[in-house]
Amino acid sequence: MRAQVQHGFASGADVRIVDVPVPVPGTGEVVIEVQACSLNRLDLLQQEAPLVRGFSVPHIAGLDVAGTVVRHGADVGAGGPAIGDTVIVNPVSSCGQCANCRAGFDPYCSDVRSIGSTRDGGFAEFVAVPAASCHAVPAGLDEIQAACLPVAYATAWRALVTAGGVAPGEWVLVNAATSGVSTALVQLAIAHGARVIGTAGGAAKIDHALGLGCEFVVDHYDDDVVARVMEWTGGRGVDLVVDHVGPALFEASIAALRPEGRMVFCGTTTGTDIEMSLPSVYHWGKSLIGSGGYSDDEFTEMLAFVEHHALEPVIDSVWPFDRIGDAQARMEAGRFFGKIVVTFESHGAVASSNGRMV
Ligand SMILES: [Zn+2]
Repeated sequence: MRAQVQHGFASGADVRIVDVPVPVPGTGEVVIEVQACSLNRLDLLQQEAPLVRGFSVPHIAGLDVAGTVVRHGADVGAGGPAIGDTVIVNPVSSCGQCANCRAGFDPYCSDVRSIGSTRDGGFAEFVAVPAASCHAVPAGLDEIQAACLPVAYATAWRALVTAGGVAPGEWVLVNAATSGVSTALVQLAIAHGARVIGTAGGAAKIDHALGLGCEFVVDHYDDDVVARVMEWTGGRGVDLVVDHVGPALFEASIAALRPEGRMVFCGTTTGTDIEMSLPSVYHWGKSLIGSGGYSDDEFTEMLAFVEHHALEPVIDSVWPFDRIGDAQARMEAGRFFGKIVVTFESHGAVASSNGRMV
């Protein structure tokens, strides 16, 4: 089969499409004929250095897989996906045996496995995955749209719903509202009945954020985020902030909260370390809440919610697999909005209504 295989790292990285054997499913696994796989920043970061424990080369990246089950390994029970089923895959699976898993903290599994990170992923014609990681595609979505959901929407679900406890009518501030995770955050928050204020850098991204349904968008480069939030919320502040930007907007995010408001943080786009005033949080009864991995139950809840609310992921562009290098260059250049997807046209993937073949 054809696959994009990585050897080496950084300047020594050799990443190209080659012929490799079709994977053989292990016990409890199935083989999926990949129809679509969307890109994530991690794909590129892992070409620079092994970021996740258990990552090794040669490696096939691709975390967000949608495709057709074509082969069962041993012990795929009746509860598993049938041959011919179209599925999307939760890329993350926990071991079920470590201390955290046994205590019910499976998102914090010490032996967590990820398709496209600690094992081969979907930038290939076929991929072997645990049968238990396969989920039905939400009704109304095609495979290309489905391949946009796993990482971005599950990460957003964890932050907004589980950690943030978003409620109808609340004001939610989403920083860097046009990124992959934030786009999902904005859609999910609005579908929960929240009112969303976004931040974005520059006129084009502000337009994109307004198009997503943000009621207001403040330019986080040229404007005063806190002043605008206070103006738009009648001096009250937002109930909830969800931030993956990190240091650049951390202090402003805390200041933009109402008394007893919650700030969920889940990323380090602008760095990992901050200096902050403790009274700016405790004096006002505010909560800082970290959000990391998600459970398979949360993944399932997210899919049901997406189906119920007929949410459609925003797609930047769709590329035939042979041009995956061009797709990755587009991500690297940074001037994209929505998910970038590669497809295997010969496997029956079709361009979705809001995407485009290039
Ligand atoms: Zn575990």
